[in-house]
Amino acid sequence: MNLEPNNIYIIMYHYVRPVKNSKYPEIKGLEEKIFYKQIKFLSENYKILSDEELGLIIKTKKIPKTPSFFLTFDDGYKDHYKYVFPILNKFKVTGNFYPIINAINEGAISDINKIHFILEKVQNRKIILDEIDKLLFKEKRISLNNLSINQLNLSSRYDDRDTVLIKRLLQYFLEEDIRYKILNTLFNKFVTIDSKNFAKELYLSKNEIVEMHNNNMHFGVHTYSHKWLDQLSVDEQYQEIKKSIDFFTNKLNINDCFSVSYPFGSYNLESLEILKKNKFNYAFTTKVGSLNLKNIQKNLEIPRYDANDLQYI
Ligand SMILES: [Zn+2]
Repeated sequence: MNLEPNNIYIIMYHYVRPVKNSKYPEIKGLEEKIFYKQIKFLSENYKILSDEELGLIIKTKKIPKTPSFFLTFDDGYKDHYKYVFPILNKFKVTGNFYPIINAINEGAISDINKIHFILEKVQNRKIILDEIDKLLFKEKRISLNNLSINQLNLSSRYDDRDTVLIKRLLQYFLEEDIRYKILNTLFNKFVTIDSKNFAKELYLSKNEIVEMHNNNMHFGVHTYSHKWLDQLSVDEQYQEIKKSIDFFTNKLNINDCFSVSYPFGSYNLESLEILKKNKFNYAFTTKVGSLNLKNIQKNLEIPRYDANDLQYI
C-alpha cells in the first residue's frame, strides 16, 4: 500500500481484540496491540477524518493534499466498545461503526459469525465438509459432489479454497431452509448451544452504542440482517435499510446515520437508487482502493483497504 497525495485511505476493520490470549485464538482478527500501533502511527503522522469531514469532502469534491485516513468498523462487535473505542478516544480520533441490527435488537447471531466461529473451532476443513455432506444427505438425499460447485468462484485474498467453499455453501449457495439447518447444527455441535449468551458476548449492546455515539463515534447502516443485497428484491433491500435507520432513530435516538457499509460488499443498481433517493452521503464497498478525484463522483461505491494492508505502510 503506497500512500499518495490527494488520496483518502478508508480502512475496514472487523474483529479487533487480544486474539492470541482470547477464548478463540484462531479467529481471523486484528490483535489489539497492532491496532493500537496503527492508530498511534496514523494519528501522529496523518489526518484521520471524521464523518462530517468526509461528508464535506464528498459534497465539495475537495480532497486534502496530504494523504488522509478514515476508519470503519463493520458488524458491531463488542470488541469495538472494549478495545477500539478507548484507543480512538486516547488518540482523539473518531471512527464510523456499522453494526448488524438484528444481532443487537434480537440477539440473532449472523450467519457470517456462525461460520467464522465454526471455522475457528475446526481447523481441519475436511471435517466440516464431511459434516455438511452428511447433513445434506440426511435432509435431502443429495451429496456435495452432486452440487454444481464449480460455478462458484473460490479464489480469495484471504482464504484457502476449502475455507471459501465452506463459506459460500453456508452463506448462500445451499437452499435457505437446509442452509440454516446445517449451519445451526454445525454451530451447536462445534461452538455452543447457548446462542443467547454467545450473542451477548459478541455484539455491542444498545447502551454501548449510545455511549460511543455520545463520545463522537458515528454509526451507519450495515443492514438489519446482514444479507447480500444483490440477492434481494428492491423492496427487501429497502426494508433492510429502513429497519436499520428506524432502530437507530426510534430506539437509540441517534439521528445522524447517513452512510452505509454494504454487507459482503454486495450491492446492485437498485441499492444505489435506494441510497440516492434517501439522501445517504456515502457508502463503502469491499473493493480495494483509495478515494481520490478519479472516483469521488461515485460516492455510493467507495473502495476500502483492509486493516491488514496497513502493515505494509
Ligand atoms: Zn459485515
